[in-house]
Amino acid sequence: MEIVTNILKEQLKKKANHLGADLFGVADLEKAQLYIKDNYGLEFSKYPSAVSLGVFFPKEIVRLLEGGPQQIYSYYYGVINHKLDEISLLLANYLEKMGYKAFPIPASQQLITNKYKGIFSHKLAASLAGLGWVGKSCCLINGQVGPRLRLATVLTNAPLEPDSPTKNKCGSCTACVSACIPGAIKGTAFNPDDPLSKRFDPKACDDYFDYVQSSHGIGNCGKCIAACPWGRE
Ligand code: SF4
Ligand code: SF4
Repeated sequence: MEIVTNILKEQLKKKANHLGADLFGVADLEKAQLYIKDNYGLEFSKYPSAVSLGVFFPKEIVRLLEGGPQQIYSYYYGVINHKLDEISLLLANYLEKMGYKAFPIPASQQLITNKYKGIFSHKLAASLAGLGWVGKSCCLINGQVGPRLRLATVLTNAPLEPDSPTKNKCGSCTACVSACIPGAIKGTAFNPDDPLSKRFDPKACDDYFDYVQSSHGIGNCGKCIAACPWGRE
């Protein structure tokens, strides 16, 4: 069985890379199933694995955010999300053709009932799949590019060998905390048992987006992403 699951995983990884994914990993969701059921519903808790996919954001575009909101950042945000959605759709269809269940989660999604929450956490899947760790900024931090990436997820029951989670390497860094003008990032290290409110104020971040939209005509910020030393140079 192990050989079979590794062959399927390698096939998927090759496809994902060929389609444009920079990062690929498999998360074991078994231990997170109760959390998934409580936070995202029964439908999503029935999948034992997730394929986690990442596409990098060009560093030079993210760097521009240090100077304020940027139209070109918004443009590529859309391009990258679209690319991720295409990759996850094609991988999900491939898994279905192989006889497995597969549910692609769009790269950018939020609940109608709660604009601060997605229909599923890409960061949960990505961190369990070893693509990086959840930083103090609440972004996924990858060892190669830091938070300069976007994520998508394919939930599946395919027997794929899981990857191992990565250690949190934020350490004593507080660059994202200092960069955040509205003080949305509280500087608390990620702990899956803590409520989000202990480390992040999503309303403060969202209100700041509204403020820059009204004052600059562009509704983005990302200063916490530009400031992260991981993958910055
Ligand atoms: S996007 Fe801007 S406002 Fe939101 S947390 Fe990051 S630095 Fe703060
Ligand atoms: S800026 Fe520093 S504290 Fe914030 S996420 Fe990056 S490494 Fe972690």
